[in-house]
Amino acid sequence: MSERETLTWDLFGTASRELAGQVAADGYRPDIILSIARGGLFVAGALGYALDVKNLHVANVEFYTGVDERLPVPIMLPPVPNVVDLSGSRVLVADDVADTGATLKLVRDFCSGHVADVRCAVVYEKPHSTVRCEYVWRRTDRWINFPWSTLPPVVENAGQVLDA
Ligand code: 5GP
Repeated sequence: MSERETLTWDLFGTASRELAGQVAADGYRPDIILSIARGGLFVAGALGYALDVKNLHVANVEFYTGVDERLPVPIMLPPVPNVVDLSGSRVLVADDVADTGATLKLVRDFCSGHVADVRCAVVYEKPHSTVRCEYVWRRTDRWINFPWSTLPPVVENAGQVLDA
C-alpha cells in the first residue's frame, strides 16, 4: 500500500459532488459557505455550484509549513472575515482535510455565537482529528497529495513557464 493518498483532479470532481450530496440529503441549506484558504477554496467553489450557494467567504489560516510540519498553533491571517456578514446565517465551513482538526476548530469557534448554525464539510478526515465534521467524503490516516498543491510553484523565465 502506498504511503500517501492521492486525490486527482478527476477524483476531486466526484468527491465534491458526493460531498454536496451528503449536505443536501441531510437537508442542510447553508446561506454561506466559508472556505479555509487555500485548499478549502477549491472545495468551497465546487460545493457552491453543487448546492447553488453563491455567498462564499474566505478565512485565511496558516498552520502547516511542510509535510506533517506545523506552527505551534494555527493563525488566522488578515483579512479576517467580518462576523457581521456571517451573523444569523447557516454557515458551511469547507476545507480539504481535517487532520489535527485545529484549523477547523479555530474557524468553527470564530463562527460560534454569531451564526445560526455552523457545520463542516471536508474531503478527508483523519482519525485523530479533534473536530468531527458533519460531512466527510473519505477517511484516511495517510498524508494526502491534493491536485492543487502537489506540483511546485511555477516560475516565469524569459517568457517560458518552468517548474521551480
Ligand atoms: P489541521 O489543522 O486539521 O491539522 O490541518 C488543516 C490543514 O493542513 C489543511 O487544510 C491542509 O492545508 C493541511 N494539511 C493537513 N493534513 C494534510 C495532508 O495530509 N495533506 C496535505 N496536502 N495538506 C494537509
